[in-house]
Amino acid sequence: MSTSELQVVPIRQAEAISRQERQGYDLLRFRPIKAFVRWRGFPYVFQTALLAFFVFMAVLAWGLYPPEGVNDKLFAKTHLANLLVWGLWWPAMVWTAVLFGRVWCAVCPLELVANITERLGRALGVKQRVLGKWLRSGALIVGLYALIQMLVAGASLHRTPAYTSLFLWGLLATAALTGFFFRDRAFCRGFCPVGLLLGTYGRGGMLAVRSTSKDQCGDCTGKDCVRACNRTKLDARSCPSLLNPARVNRNADCLVCVQCVKVCQPENMGLFLRRPFHPVSSMPGVAWRSRWL
Ligand code: SF4
Ligand code: SF4
Ligand code: SF4
Repeated sequence: MSTSELQVVPIRQAEAISRQERQGYDLLRFRPIKAFVRWRGFPYVFQTALLAFFVFMAVLAWGLYPPEGVNDKLFAKTHLANLLVWGLWWPAMVWTAVLFGRVWCAVCPLELVANITERLGRALGVKQRVLGKWLRSGALIVGLYALIQMLVAGASLHRTPAYTSLFLWGLLATAALTGFFFRDRAFCRGFCPVGLLLGTYGRGGMLAVRSTSKDQCGDCTGKDCVRACNRTKLDARSCPSLLNPARVNRNADCLVCVQCVKVCQPENMGLFLRRPFHPVSSMPGVAWRSRWL
């Protein structure tokens, strides 16, 4: 090996370490976390438990209106489904996004429902559609979110258990139908009414899935994280959101589902804990728009 070749290796290693430091601390260096994240049951076990919670709440609140003469605000405060859905789940979803990015999405039961029906549709030979440009733009998501806000203000969606139940069933049914007729995580990318909200609030989140070494990705011949044949696998899939994990540099579209972590043979994807609103500006090649938009 020549002297110049001997010098390249430590320089590359130093660059990789300094890049990792800029990105934060890679939690996958901690073995129990790595084992947990790579476990085949993650995230399905958590998604299933939360799906059971969703269905239980929807059943509990079904057909329940405030009795005659009872203030709806007071009634809402005494009903478990209303308290848990609007008093706990909704704010928790937003605050976990602010603090840790789209971690809710990692365990979201709606994604599980859409995932199941997408597989079912494929197995039944349904000609599933690709999400069109207009849906990908998020226009429908904005419209649905605005509709929820109007129903909260105008029809007390958050105060009437019966409406809360309809809201939950509506979400589950839309996820199921979208999954059945569209492919590639279409519900999350074009329909979910909280998708943009979480993407926006999660930008400064302290948790981020990123490549640990751009050089290793550049040298990678397998590219398992983007190969189409890996997308329909049950576990260790190429990115179901159609992102290129090697190039992900913001939290807006990444659902922290860690499928890219599992599928990457060189183990080059990390789960970084960073300070809030981590400035990616120090990373070379990152345009100013992608830092904040
Ligand atoms: S985008 Fe919506 S449906 Fe998809 S995982 Fe996130 S919250 Fe769930
Ligand atoms: S993330 Fe892993 S699989 Fe994807 S290009 Fe990089 S090294 Fe290859
Ligand atoms: S980049 Fe990785 S963690 Fe993010 S959505 Fe794609 S597969 Fe999931």
